Amino acid sequence: MDGQHIVVVGAGYAGLAAATRAGRRHRVTLIAPESHFLHRVRSHETAAGLPGRRPSIAHLLRGRAVTHLQTRVTGLDLAGGKVTVEEGPAVGYDTLVYALGSRTAWHGVPGAAEHAYPAERADEPARRIGGAVRPGTVAVVGGGATGIELAAELAEAHPRWRVRLVTAGEAGGWLSERGRAHVLRVLERLGVRVEEHAEVTAVDAGGLHTSRGPVGADVVVWAASLEPHPLAAEAGLEVAPDGRAVVDGHLRSVSHPGVYVVGDAAAVTVPGVGRLRAGCATAQPMGVHVGNVLGGRTAGPFRFRYVLQCLSLGRRDGLVQTVRADDSMRPAVLTGAPARWVKAAIVNGVLLNLR
Ligand SMILES: Cc1cc2nc3c(=O)[nH]c(=O)nc-3n(C[C@H](O)[C@H](O)[C@H](O)COP(=O)(O)OP(=O)(O)OC[C@H]3O[C@@H](n4cnc5c(N)ncnc54)[C@H](O)[C@@H]3O)c2cc1C
Repeated sequence: MDGQHIVVVGAGYAGLAAATRAGRRHRVTLIAPESHFLHRVRSHETAAGLPGRRPSIAHLLRGRAVTHLQTRVTGLDLAGGKVTVEEGPAVGYDTLVYALGSRTAWHGVPGAAEHAYPAERADEPARRIGGAVRPGTVAVVGGGATGIELAAELAEAHPRWRVRLVTAGEAGGWLSERGRAHVLRVLERLGVRVEEHAEVTAVDAGGLHTSRGPVGADVVVWAASLEPHPLAAEAGLEVAPDGRAVVDGHLRSVSHPGVYVVGDAAAVTVPGVGRLRAGCATAQPMGVHVGNVLGGRTAGPFRFRYVLQCLSLGRRDGLVQTVRADDSMRPAVLTGAPARWVKAAIVNGVLLNLR
């Protein structure tokens, strides 16, 4: 097996962790358009205009037999073992690791793609808000972890702006009672107005139209939900109804076992845990596992269990929610500055664990 050419597409938490480990034994080509690591779990800090630490991909790959091809993948020829790219000739592989992650889902809401900023373009609202002559209103759409972190961070960084969190369900509705109560308390303290059970039906230059009436906003940030990259389905990998590629217990595509799928792109079910949700917390362990298998450091199926969910609530507060192995809530939570430190330590650990 030594000396194979492995191609990893996507340099997020999953793809980079796989490439750096596989590169201990094989020649690896990593294909992704960015020069610096995206570090998406810090997007809310970027949106709030806080300085970020984004290492270059070249730095993360130092000392490993990994070549970074800085371009976009346009297609996969699974029968011919080739990846087509935007710039340059097709790249042949012996083994493919598919790690194209996910992106903002607009759900066909009229005007959303034109008038709202997705979380992955977080630097754009930062420029709009930072450059505004007068303070205005920013609406964050989505009551999940991403929306909550964005609303808290924006409210703390820009206290003269009005921040509104608009969600079709409940903000933090999946958390334990104590966890959700803490989130709502902190958002209120930061001046965030939370609009629950308000489904966004359209977005225009004046803000949001919702099932409960209009919400005026100068800037709209969309964090409602993510969808997997469509290339997996387009290339013919078997996908689940949500578009994620179905994998076996070793994270190999069930339709194309020569292809590993890791991160948000993968629909993986772990015995005793269930179907894993998309997230950095699941993406990186998948990348580490496949990288270690290819690097000859481990064998056997992918193992995983949930332990915690962590949310940052601005720079001074946070929530650590304890969960069971299957991600269901336990009542115990940690809040305030200690929770913020735990979250920060985990985010830093994620960076260290990329290689
Ligand atoms: C604001 C925010 C906060 C979050 N907070 C958390 C959190 O606290 N905890 C948590 O668990 N999760 C969190 N998430 C979710 C987490 O970021 C994702 O689940 C995670 O990034 C998935 O990792 P991945 O490696 O699968 O894909 P990604 O990180 O999405 O990386 C995908 C890679 O594919 C590349 N790519 C895309 N298209 C192409 C193409 N055509 N050709 C080549 N390369 C391509 C991208 O450039 C990138 O390198 C958060 C997300 C956001 C936006």
